[in-house]
Amino acid sequence: MRYQKGTDRKVTSNWAPKTQMVRAGSMRSDFGEMGEALFMTSAFTYPTAEEAEARFDGRAEGFTYSRQTNPTVAMLEERMALLEGAEIGRATGTGMAAMTASLLCQLRAGDHVVAARALFGSCRWLMDELLPRYGIETTVVDATDLNAWQAATRDTTKVFFLETPANPTLEIADIRAIADMAKSAGARMVVDNVFATPVLQKPLALGADVVTYSTTKHIDGQGRCLGGMILCSKEFDEEFLYPYYRHTGCAMSPFNAWVMLKGMETLDLRVNAMCDNAEYLAEKLSDVLDSVRHPSLSSFAQRDLALSQMTRGGTMVIFELPGGRDQAFTFMNALEMVDISNNLGDSRSIATHPWSTTHKALAEESRLELGITPGMIRFSVGLEDREDIANDVLQALKTAGIS
Ligand SMILES: *Cc1c(COP(=O)(O)O)cnc(C)c1O
Repeated sequence: MRYQKGTDRKVTSNWAPKTQMVRAGSMRSDFGEMGEALFMTSAFTYPTAEEAEARFDGRAEGFTYSRQTNPTVAMLEERMALLEGAEIGRATGTGMAAMTASLLCQLRAGDHVVAARALFGSCRWLMDELLPRYGIETTVVDATDLNAWQAATRDTTKVFFLETPANPTLEIADIRAIADMAKSAGARMVVDNVFATPVLQKPLALGADVVTYSTTKHIDGQGRCLGGMILCSKEFDEEFLYPYYRHTGCAMSPFNAWVMLKGMETLDLRVNAMCDNAEYLAEKLSDVLDSVRHPSLSSFAQRDLALSQMTRGGTMVIFELPGGRDQAFTFMNALEMVDISNNLGDSRSIATHPWSTTHKALAEESRLELGITPGMIRFSVGLEDREDIANDVLQALKTAGIS
């Protein structure tokens, strides 16, 4: 097993992102297979006892056990690391495993975390419930208010955590400015980059220390497998992440890694096509609703900031029905093609009602504080023809009394 001829790290890091998504990290066995091989094996064997000892000592390169690493998983990790501009990638079983590992691996009792208040529901649970349970204090702030980050910082602050654009509000946090503050506070910044995808935004280049993904979303992109990824420096991996990762067992299955490798090959095409469709839908919806949010719209309050750190506005469109939950439900039930689901980044367009599903675990007042209202629809724009998507949404809005 070795990296494909001519694709060592030096060569692949010079490739353009589109090439990396197709080829980076590929390893071929002596059979010369074209497609990446799926290594469904829990453990590995050694030619001699000495070789086993050497691998366990770290003196010899090679695989030992798939809880640590596996060739198929390693291909995905290397592909994503090169694309992100990170030294190391570690694949996890789910996105939440990546979020949890990226935090717990570097924190201990007595430490303090400052986090954006607008987070994916389970990430908010980590802040509000899990970390405090282990003596790690957390403060959540309005991520758009730079003074709030500063004011929340203490001597014990070790981590800044945020997502941008935020789920589901599309609130934008200024990655560079917040990373600068983290640096001067001696804290590390972790960015959940799920909504932007590695195609549209590169947090490490803007000063973040660690980037995390749910690869369940755009990376698979076809609604099949759960997965996550943590991208970081070699130093962070050696000191914090790898010991946590190997001993707590949050590894990704080789099968899921193999599916994700296939997803990566079309990631750039899919994300750009979904952005095209999202821009079109946002424009169309703006004719009938005032509340449409997408960073490409001139009405989007944080448009300049969004487009200074993302190459495009992304694949999610948010809008609000003034009639609240009842009108939102009438709209969703009237959709003929678009699915009602809670996933996102799928090739199929999906409508979600965050109030009653993904963010229901948050107290009502917390939801309202985040700007999540009973009438809000989170729309993940798929790869269908843009007219079919727009027509379905417009006819369902009409049924709900909006035209
Ligand atoms: C989906 C999601 C997660 C969690 O990922 P899973 O793969 O569902 O565990 C975390 N953050 C964001 C922004 C997400 O959209």
